Amino acid sequence: MANIVTDMEDGRDQLIRIVEDAEHIAAFTGAGISTESGIPDFRSKDSAWKRHPPIPFEEFMASETARMESWRRKFAMDDSFKDAAPNTGHYALARLVAGDRIHSIITQNIDGLHQASGVPREKIIELHGNGTYAKCLGCGVRHELAAVRNRFEASNRAPQCLCGGIVKTATIAFGQAMPNEEMRRAHAATLQCDLMLAIGSSLVVYPAAGFPVLAKENGAQLVIINREETALDAIADIVIRAPIGEVLAPFAGRDRLN
Ligand code: NAD
Repeated sequence: MANIVTDMEDGRDQLIRIVEDAEHIAAFTGAGISTESGIPDFRSKDSAWKRHPPIPFEEFMASETARMESWRRKFAMDDSFKDAAPNTGHYALARLVAGDRIHSIITQNIDGLHQASGVPREKIIELHGNGTYAKCLGCGVRHELAAVRNRFEASNRAPQCLCGGIVKTATIAFGQAMPNEEMRRAHAATLQCDLMLAIGSSLVVYPAAGFPVLAKENGAQLVIINREETALDAIADIVIRAPIGEVLAPFAGRDRLN
């Protein structure tokens, strides 16, 4: 039975102790770590994603109309959080990485804010890709979003690569295969850790949510930091049910949010 903590001081104290005692820590992050940066998460009530839901991969591939709609939604969402910057939660994890306490951040996020907070790229495992640039699905070449947007708005056609391939954000859409190398790295990091911190995820999206489960099965301790119940609370050692920035502030060298 998980120890559910709702008192902030108690949660912070327990977290500091468990982090001090661990040898190999992996963080597993979800959309909730970026809400304090102004990027809405997926499942919270009134989420902007409900007005601009992502188009599933099969639909995106099936028609140019779907691809154009997908780009329209992408640019509309980007406009609404174009100034997003890392927050206390991101900086806390960056300090724990810099201090050699966290060896990997496995993230479901596509916003690039772990990189922006100073975490070296090789310490970040992006299970669902990255939405800050695009890629050709044919030849794999990278396309910058500003150029894609200019071409899209000027031509009113779904962007294509010079090779004729379909251009898509470098994210993993619903229905698209998971990236092999990231899955392999996440698996290795999970098996290596003796503590996994699952932060800001409803823990319902699989296969990603399989990593906290695997960590626990492999003997690691699992701490969940999330303001609402998650699907894995029952198997966690500690559940800290509170705002992420406030819980992690001591690790960022602060005692308050932002
Ligand atoms: P989710 O929306 O399913 O869950 C987020 C959880 O974080 C919720 O349970 C919510 O209660 C909690 N939360 C939100 N803000 C919080 C805060 N300040 N403090 C504490 N808890 C907070 O997100 P998910 O589990 O990551 O799954 C959503 C999928 O959508 C992922 O696959 C991800 O790729 C994608 N997505 C990414 C982003 C991003 O990159 N920032 C944003 C939205 C969705």
